[in-house]
Amino acid sequence: METKFQYFAQFAKGNRWSTFDNLTSLIMQSLVHLGGINAGQDHVAADSTQESSSPKKKVVILGTGWAGMSFLKNLDSKLYDVRIVSPRNYFVFTPLLPSVTVGTVEARSITEPIRRIIRKKEAQFHEAECIKIDVDKKQITCKDVSDITFKGKEEFDLPYDYLVIAVGATSNTFGTKGVMEYCHFLKDIEDAERIREHIINCFETASLPHLSSEERRKLLNFVVVGGGPTGVEFSAELHDLVHEDLLCLYPHLKDNVKITLVQSGDHILNTFDRRISQFAEKKFSRDGVHVKIGCRVLEVTDEYIRFKAKDTGKLVDVPYGMIVWSTGISTRPVIADFMKQIGQEKHRVLATDEWLRVKNCEGVYALGDCASIEQRKIVEDIAYIFKQADKDNNSLLSAAEFVETMEEVRLRYPQIDLYMDHKHMKGVIGLLDEALNSGDQDNAQLDLEHFSAAMSKVDSLMKCMPATAQVAAQQGTYLAHSFNHIARHKPAEGPKRIRAEGRHRFNPFCYRHLGQFAPLGGEQAAAELPGDWVSIGRSTMWLWYSVYASKQVSWRTRALVMFDWTKRFVFGRDSSRM
Ligand code: FAD
Ligand code: MG
Repeated sequence: METKFQYFAQFAKGNRWSTFDNLTSLIMQSLVHLGGINAGQDHVAADSTQESSSPKKKVVILGTGWAGMSFLKNLDSKLYDVRIVSPRNYFVFTPLLPSVTVGTVEARSITEPIRRIIRKKEAQFHEAECIKIDVDKKQITCKDVSDITFKGKEEFDLPYDYLVIAVGATSNTFGTKGVMEYCHFLKDIEDAERIREHIINCFETASLPHLSSEERRKLLNFVVVGGGPTGVEFSAELHDLVHEDLLCLYPHLKDNVKITLVQSGDHILNTFDRRISQFAEKKFSRDGVHVKIGCRVLEVTDEYIRFKAKDTGKLVDVPYGMIVWSTGISTRPVIADFMKQIGQEKHRVLATDEWLRVKNCEGVYALGDCASIEQRKIVEDIAYIFKQADKDNNSLLSAAEFVETMEEVRLRYPQIDLYMDHKHMKGVIGLLDEALNSGDQDNAQLDLEHFSAAMSKVDSLMKCMPATAQVAAQQGTYLAHSFNHIARHKPAEGPKRIRAEGRHRFNPFCYRHLGQFAPLGGEQAAAELPGDWVSIGRSTMWLWYSVYASKQVSWRTRALVMFDWTKRFVFGRDSSRM
């Protein structure tokens, strides 16, 4: 069956995006298979006939963000008794939140009601916040978050057999004084709408006749803290709003507007390819966005924000009209409590194994921004792997022994495939060549020491997965597949166990990075694409439009977002303060 994405890719091919048609379809196909929330729904419905006759296990999903919704969409809900708990009865397409802050896209265009998503599912939704997880009783306590509550009925308990924690994260203030009180965050729809209102508020107030020019300059000094993708994209959107729309409407304020982006590291976009971060810095400097590199924010008051320059140690107090704080993520209180309960208080985020199971908690899974996978190093199991590989017990590995074992072992340790991709190796034989330091495979004789050295090189490339929608959505799809597999009583399909007999039930989760975008304003964007490609410029912005339109969760939001973009091209952004 032709999916919506393929249809869109064909539409893009046959029309004005034909210059990068191959690229578009490649990315879209990858997204369909690996990332998108829409993907997999038909597949699940078609395969749901082998239902088990035993009573259905209770699955409770916490959160209606990228991870929770991707899990739900791909889960065969007929196989389980599914409950979803979230204080938000809608899904938000977070990559377009910066566009909502300036009115390029309307808030309701990027949200999809959960009840629309679950209407074809056998699942129940409860609008509430989970406030406690009790692993001994296998139940959670939830709190009604609506304004209308019955006295004494604010809280309720829900039992579970499987708990899927996907509650995301909060903004990280690093304990900086005044940030909570005086800064805006950009995590949710309400935040984006508050920022939009505040910007217009600053322009209208600055236009009042009785203000001094110093007061005007203070009101129109916009500070963005954090040079990651969100901070950079918001700065770019704000620059476009000011220069394309607001300065035509408020020409008398032209000389008073200033946008400052503060970054504590040495470069902005430092998780991107160096070429992209250099291009972004140059573009911002041309556009007049002030980038303050190597500056740490020490304090925020109602009057000023105080920075310290790392190189000179000088303190600077800057009066501001608005600050947007975007410096990374932190654990939600309910997860912090849960981590204490299960002895993970020393961890930064909830730790899971590669199958997304929370360690030492039966039936509890965690995914998305609230969790992090503790990947097992190959060298931890090196002696066992060597013993399994050395079939003739001569304490040396021949080429045949090496290849046969590594084909199996690479399924257990996803870092092997990442390493081979990174080194552009065609197969595990490349690892052998590297370990032998020669291409003489016929006479290969690898001892434990050299084998161990080669594998620690592979381990050294292991990194934490980024806190992105891409990771969260892939994890949701992966976990739903595992749940469907368990309920259908299918045999184990995972790799051979290294330290014990038999096989693992599934392959561990393996993240496939499909690239990332950084819109930089002025209809220009930069992108890291699959295969180490870097693309920068206007055509990349068109690619951004087509990918983000295709990734929408429904045809309704896709149509609304495309309509908003068209409206902005024709009429500009709306500056009414409502
Ligand atoms: P979320 O999507 O945050 O969802 C968490 C859910 O849990 C929410 O529904 C929330 O209401 C619910 N919840 C919270 N507390 C509780 C509780 N106590 N009980 C029950 N439910 C609860 N990633 C990309 O890959 N590409 C991008 O371009 C991109 N752009 C971004 C732009 C912005 C402005 C932001 C903020 C993020 C962006 N991200 C992007 C990151 C991406 O949004 C996150 O990584 C992703 O949302 C994580 O998914 P999640 O399901 O873990 O959490
Ligand atoms: Mg041998």
